[in-house]
Amino acid sequence: MNKYEDRINDTELPEFRRPNDENKVIPTPYILGDIEDLNELPALLGPKTYTKAKLTREEIVEKITSNPKKTNVAWGKEWNCSRERVRQLREQFGLNSVREFNLEIFNLALEAIAKGSGMINANTFKNIPNFSVIKFNTWLEEKPYLKQQVELVRKEAYDKIYNPTSKLCPFCDKTLPIDNFYVSKSGRDRRMNKCNDCNIRIVKHYYDKRYVPNPTVTEKVCTSLKDLGPLPASFFHKSTKATSGLQYNSIRYQETYAKWKSKYKKIMKIEDDNTRNNELSFLGNWKEKAKNEARELIRKDLEEYNMLNLE
Ligand SMILES: [Zn+2]
Repeated sequence: MNKYEDRINDTELPEFRRPNDENKVIPTPYILGDIEDLNELPALLGPKTYTKAKLTREEIVEKITSNPKKTNVAWGKEWNCSRERVRQLREQFGLNSVREFNLEIFNLALEAIAKGSGMINANTFKNIPNFSVIKFNTWLEEKPYLKQQVELVRKEAYDKIYNPTSKLCPFCDKTLPIDNFYVSKSGRDRRMNKCNDCNIRIVKHYYDKRYVPNPTVTEKVCTSLKDLGPLPASFFHKSTKATSGLQYNSIRYQETYAKWKSKYKKIMKIEDDNTRNNELSFLGNWKEKAKNEARELIRKDLEEYNMLNLE
């Protein structure tokens, strides 16, 4: 067997050159001695082709790279070969599909989701090279059975942040059951950042520390009647626990509030539903009424106050 026969029997040869009948004499264009350099042989044979569509390596590379999103299934249909054959060709030519599933990378993606808040966005996979949400979603579309696993990880990540069962208190450095944290309006888990014991300790510390024997201000806004603007300090009761040394609400408002609240309380004691409801609707918005009455009184007080101070 000479070297050319050897080459002809090589299964690497294109199908159309491969002998299909042992006994048949295959006419070959090359005769020993005609070719000086063995490297010229492939050129003489014509470029090697792949698939039933007889595409050369260059053609396949060109097609796949200019159509990166086209699936192996779609290529297989076009070239009349299996999806697996397309995958093999991609691998052989270093054209690994962007869609190629990789379990190792998929697990990294799950880890990244677990570290987050359950949301998957452009940032989620930023630490995984050559990976994106688009690729991730493509995998999920191609392998729907992965979705359940992803949802589970997402839920765990979400619950860890939004519905935690325990939480670390940074003040005592203890991880405690979530019931040890007061409910809060802010924060993703709607709980305070410090545990109840620490919270009580800290609040008490600052409360005890604060002692304001005399008013530190000459004017103050009544917390419930802000529209009146700053009022003289004498319109307020003293408070040793407030920074201003004054209570938050003006004396007048405290009085009218107490008056209207007692009216309301009296009505609420009425046992007969109809009578009580009639009285309640007659009473109306008692808190607003208390404010209006206090406003009137304070305006009069202010007139008097200004007159006294002019003299
Ligand atoms: Zn604590």
